[in-house]
Amino acid sequence: MINYKEIKSFIQDTIIPKEKDWVGKPFYSIESELNTFRNIVKQNNWWTPQLDKDSGGLGLTLSEHAKLLEILGMTPFGCYLFNSHAPDAGNMELLEMAGNKKQKEEYLKPLVNGDIRSCFAMTEPDLAGSNPVRMGTIAVKEGDNYIINGKKWFTTAADGSKFTIVMAVTNDENENPYAKSSMIIVPTNAKGYTIERNISIMGHANEGWFSHSEITFKNVKVPITNLLGNEGEGFKLAQKRLGPGRIHHCMRWMGICERAFDMMCERAITRKISDTEYLGDKQLVQDFIAVSRAEIDAAKLYIIDTANKMEMLGHKEARLQISAVKFYAAGVLQKVIDRSIQVHGALGITDDTILSFFYREERGARIYDGADEAHKTALAKRILKEKKKEY
Ligand SMILES: Cc1cc2nc3c(=O)[nH]c(=O)nc-3n(C[C@H](O)[C@H](O)[C@H](O)COP(=O)(O)OP(=O)(O)OC[C@H]3O[C@@H](n4cnc5c(N)ncnc54)[C@H](O)[C@@H]3O)c2cc1C
Repeated sequence: MINYKEIKSFIQDTIIPKEKDWVGKPFYSIESELNTFRNIVKQNNWWTPQLDKDSGGLGLTLSEHAKLLEILGMTPFGCYLFNSHAPDAGNMELLEMAGNKKQKEEYLKPLVNGDIRSCFAMTEPDLAGSNPVRMGTIAVKEGDNYIINGKKWFTTAADGSKFTIVMAVTNDENENPYAKSSMIIVPTNAKGYTIERNISIMGHANEGWFSHSEITFKNVKVPITNLLGNEGEGFKLAQKRLGPGRIHHCMRWMGICERAFDMMCERAITRKISDTEYLGDKQLVQDFIAVSRAEIDAAKLYIIDTANKMEMLGHKEARLQISAVKFYAAGVLQKVIDRSIQVHGALGITDDTILSFFYREERGARIYDGADEAHKTALAKRILKEKKKEY
């Protein structure tokens, strides 16, 4: 059984004090120091909590892992240090689920060991990612190989990855748009695979695990044995990858919320606004604190309920609640960080606190893994369909 209390102390007393040396620094300049702490995590048997024991993980259930992610989410480095970071965690789950023996040996094993990193390339700059059935990247069979051509972007952590799992059209003739694409493993040293740039986000491009890249595939040749699962199964696998992934993100966001909330309270208690009053004496600041507390607690209960439903009923049955909790939790995250910044005044937007990093890096939460609007539409459509039956 994992000791959450010990892990919380490790994050709060050892990792958070180190943050000031790491946040905003180029990834490769801090990688070896991060590795020192990854080794401590390994020695403590906290490594890769999300994977089955047979694959080298701790075998935590989704709910147990969610509880842990709330602790790890308090710092941007938590998941990385525990080998449960995106996109590697999702790729490990994909390989565990759909990889054959050779693929597991070649790609899953070194990921679990933490020897390599990987990335996942689905979104394209020229076509709406919210409707990924329209995909421009094509993989054509030629003898025993696939020849891949296309362009991807926002491929998180591509810089320095050993391989990418790319989503490409392999079965364009299939009438079902969800059965046209496949997932293919592409080693990043393959000829014709090029990282064009690490995309700058709000002034910060960074590198390595902390980057998002634009990639081109020009006649990239890989053996057909690099196919993950069966041809045309890309979306089926993507759905399986995204369900637990969304819950992981939601709970990690709650760790960020708790951190931002604690900072907001500390500032409210310690910042004097007059000779006799502190910020926390002002009712508008009290409103920020009260509403944030209620929203964080509501989001957490909703996340846990969703995780329980996924465990009891399966991902498919719980998919609409996954959609709902994803946009709800992302909204709470954004509001709580924003309120905490507001209570800090000008200090809140400087890089002297972690808040500006969270504000910048987590704005994407309402976009990645399905934009708010896509999830809301799916949920509302289903509700209205059911309601119509009553009339
Ligand atoms: C930080 C970050 C990391 C990412 N990492 C990866 C990665 O590792 N690999 C990868 O493949 N992709 C990644 N992505 C890309 C992400 O999956 C896409 O950005 C997302 O799917 C949305 O696609 P899009 O950006 O093309 O937006 P579009 O599809 O062009 O949508 C734009 C906007 O339109 C609105 N919209 C969309 N659908 C609807 C609808 N049904 N009704 C009403 N309005 C709608 C929404 O407001 C949406 O934000 C990442 C993105 C971010 C921000």
